[in-house]
Amino acid sequence: MSGHATFFVILWITLREVFPEWHGSFVQSLTRIIGAANVLVVVTAIVGLWLLPASDRPVAAPPARAAERSTPQPTGPAVEEAAQPPGVVATPEFARQVKANELGLVPVLMYHRLVAKRRSSIDRTPAQFRQELEKLARKGYVPISAKEFAAGDIRVPAGKFPVVLTFDDGHPSHFAFDAGGGPARDTAVGILLDVAGRHPGFRPVATFWVNHTPFGLRTEREQAAAVRWLTGNGFEVANHTWSHPDLRSLPVKNVRKQIARLDRMLARLGADPVTTMALPYGSMPRAKKAARQGSWNGTRYDFDGVFLAGAEPSVSPYAKDFDRGAIQRIQSNGKKGECRKWCSQYWLEWLDKHPGKRYVSDGDPERVSVPRRLRGNIEAKRRPQVNAY
Ligand SMILES: [Zn+2]
Repeated sequence: MSGHATFFVILWITLREVFPEWHGSFVQSLTRIIGAANVLVVVTAIVGLWLLPASDRPVAAPPARAAERSTPQPTGPAVEEAAQPPGVVATPEFARQVKANELGLVPVLMYHRLVAKRRSSIDRTPAQFRQELEKLARKGYVPISAKEFAAGDIRVPAGKFPVVLTFDDGHPSHFAFDAGGGPARDTAVGILLDVAGRHPGFRPVATFWVNHTPFGLRTEREQAAAVRWLTGNGFEVANHTWSHPDLRSLPVKNVRKQIARLDRMLARLGADPVTTMALPYGSMPRAKKAARQGSWNGTRYDFDGVFLAGAEPSVSPYAKDFDRGAIQRIQSNGKKGECRKWCSQYWLEWLDKHPGKRYVSDGDPERVSVPRRLRGNIEAKRRPQVNAY
């Protein structure tokens, strides 16, 4: 018998002798405590198992993305952490325990250039980007791509929060190769991979919305190598129009041309089929539908999501009022000037102060778990998946 068990037996006998009339209720309480402890051990074991990095998990994680991909193997080190984790089966009781709310708000963060010397208010330094990622990782956010978000394919462990990291304009500070054929360390991709390596479970996943010269690369060969590396490693490269015009100022035919031309280029470079786009300047064409669906010169597009340029967290893609033709984003920035409100520092603090408003995953990709009071807000198509508690 272990020292702890001996101690409890002696304590129990002593209590029975000293307080005979308490003995009955004490035994009942003890039984209850032991029962609760067992439940706690089991729950801890399950949660612990779930939080292990994919490579440590005893169950083989389905390499869904890798299997679907037909592009050649990327150069440079593979990024296995980007694979989506397998789900759990969420019961109402489980969903309640992890405080799941899959109708909550999701921050879709918007980045532009990462430069050591900021010239524009929307520039961020590499250090600021790294700090924001560290903060997200510490707080329990897990990155998903804009494509996954718009499709409602959110595979985040139970109790964690999805965040979408998006980069506009395809700047060289987002992605570049180093001498060894991997991503350069000071780029957005390099920094994200480094932070993910230090925080198991923080998926190195992001979306790059590019124009006609992705990442400042001039030749088609270089562009294709970059696009293939990114999509081969779980990143999304998608549509930010051909030449970044204000779509509101264009006739609808030119809106379609701007979008279709870039889709064609991405297909030629070997990107995955494009399912998302971001509006330059967040400016909606006068015919709103033309941003999401249309065709030009034989090229059709039909996006799962069209993204704006500000200025609040997005509603969940499972919510009735989710508008996939105008998805909100948040500019990454501190709390100065115009960003006193509406930018990332403000909103991440706000979400911390209003945990009941935030999207919290149930860990189960097949179910949409929500507190009972919110079940009426679910989009009709998702109703068969509801797990209300
Ligand atoms: Zn832009």
